[in-house]
Amino acid sequence: MLAYIGLGSNLEVPKEQIKRALVALNDTTDIEVSGLSSLYRSKPLDGSDQPDYINAVCRVKTHLSALELLYVCQGIESKQHRVRDERWGPRTIDLDIILYGTQVIASKKLVVPHPEMMNRAFVLVPLKEIEPNLIVPILGSLTGLIDKIDTSKLIKL
Ligand code: ATP
Ligand code: MG
Ligand code: MG
Repeated sequence: MLAYIGLGSNLEVPKEQIKRALVALNDTTDIEVSGLSSLYRSKPLDGSDQPDYINAVCRVKTHLSALELLYVCQGIESKQHRVRDERWGPRTIDLDIILYGTQVIASKKLVVPHPEMMNRAFVLVPLKEIEPNLIVPILGSLTGLIDKIDTSKLIKL
């Protein structure tokens, strides 16, 4: 299965956090990182004065189920000392499953395609770098989604 994971960090040297998470993913049995976007800088979603985020998207080849992949992502988040307090608050690392093949999942723990992906330049633009012709389940072409949002504040590093 091919899946796409969005990575984001705005604490404790964000670029290092993203690198560490990618190494941890690739070191996991049954996960191979097979594609990676550039790094991007974005403003916090809630407009608060927390530091800017560094974001990237990677593609993984995996034999894990979507839920197993989520647990791996959460394990990496805890290992990198992510503290969960307020939603959209600052964090050392966030790993979100953006897509899991063409599967549509809506369970309590996991919603795929990621329910906010269509609103987020920091997900769509890096995803397009890896997969320019992607058709997203339910939502349609990635290019079409990008045309609908403001990407001007996203900075490619
Ligand atoms: P957002 O999902 O809007 O980006 P967030 O990433 O800050 O917010 P988290 O605190 O990382 O939110 O996750 C909250 C919960 O979201 C997790 O406990 C997880 O079960 C659930 N979740 C649902 N769908 C997904 C998904 N596609 N990827 C990661 N987590 C998901
Ligand atoms: Mg998130
Ligand atoms: Mg998350």
